[in-house]
Amino acid sequence: METVVQQTDYDALSCRMSAIAKGYLPSPSLQVDRCNYHQYKEFHMEYLRALKSVSMRIYSIVNRVVKTSFPVMNYGTYLRTVSIDVALNDYLTSLGKDKKVQVINLGCGSDLRMIPLLQNFPTLTYIDVDYDSSISVKSKVLWNSEALKNLLDLQRDESTGEVFAERYKLASSDLNRLEETMQRLHDLTEKDCTTIIITECLLCYMRQEESQKLIGSIVSYYQSGTWIAYDPIGGSEPNDRFGRVMQANLRESRNLEMPTLMIYNSKEKYASRFPTTDASVTDMWEIFSNRISADENKRLRSLQFLDEIEELKVMQKHYVLSTASWQK
Ligand code: SAM
Repeated sequence: METVVQQTDYDALSCRMSAIAKGYLPSPSLQVDRCNYHQYKEFHMEYLRALKSVSMRIYSIVNRVVKTSFPVMNYGTYLRTVSIDVALNDYLTSLGKDKKVQVINLGCGSDLRMIPLLQNFPTLTYIDVDYDSSISVKSKVLWNSEALKNLLDLQRDESTGEVFAERYKLASSDLNRLEETMQRLHDLTEKDCTTIIITECLLCYMRQEESQKLIGSIVSYYQSGTWIAYDPIGGSEPNDRFGRVMQANLRESRNLEMPTLMIYNSKEKYASRFPTTDASVTDMWEIFSNRISADENKRLRSLQFLDEIEELKVMQKHYVLSTASWQK
């Protein structure tokens, strides 16, 4: 099970690379102007180039999907990426440039958000957490690229092979193992520092009890923070078959489970995962309809012809962005 779950990162990476290749990402208005992201395409291409030298197998899988992706998938990746970037940027900006803050990306996979965030927020520290084998590949890829190594100012402990920077750490942990995970976080982070947790398509792959214990322990450990989560929801209307079909497809094609898809199957139920009073959950169709400007929409339409608008709507109504904050 661990291997199939881990491989979901290849999908996330290939979707991102496809959205970059087709021009959806970076968004000039939302990522470049608003979030001050620069060289986005370049550092992603560099990651892919270095991945090729570390694992030809993973590179080939990622590259194959990049070549065959559909417009609905690119829209989905675009929406997921820019909405998390904007939520992160707005929250960090609201704290003020000098505020000490730590970002913990749980189930980080090959995500490269740490690059622009560490550049833009000089008092920020960033911790990427994933399974040992994923962290090992990511560390090797970053270390194998002179450009990425320099961008992140990486060092390597020659005795352990561990790659790190003063403000950036990569940590291996099976997040289903609570004690081990909390120990890693205890060693690498500060309890009293304002903390942002990112879980982008992580909770959906965890079992219910383990995921809820993880959320509960993290929220009670850190003094104050915000949890930014993105996940699919199964749908709660009586004739909504989205979640059941998705579960059956994943099971059949990949032997992959999404144990809580039908438990937290609506925005309200998803919000109830977080032991805070203010969890705000928005589906991605609402974000597409209300938060993407007419100019940006026009730009997206110029990239690829999107015939399947109804399909996009159904899909995006079943993905949510949630933010939940706490302060003790
Ligand atoms: N967050 C990244 C993104 O959106 O690009 C990767 C998403 S990928 C769909 C899910 C990631 O969660 C994978 O990298 C996988 O290894 C990680 N993951 C899932 N369950 C995990 C667990 N129990 N412990 C550590 N990592 C886990």
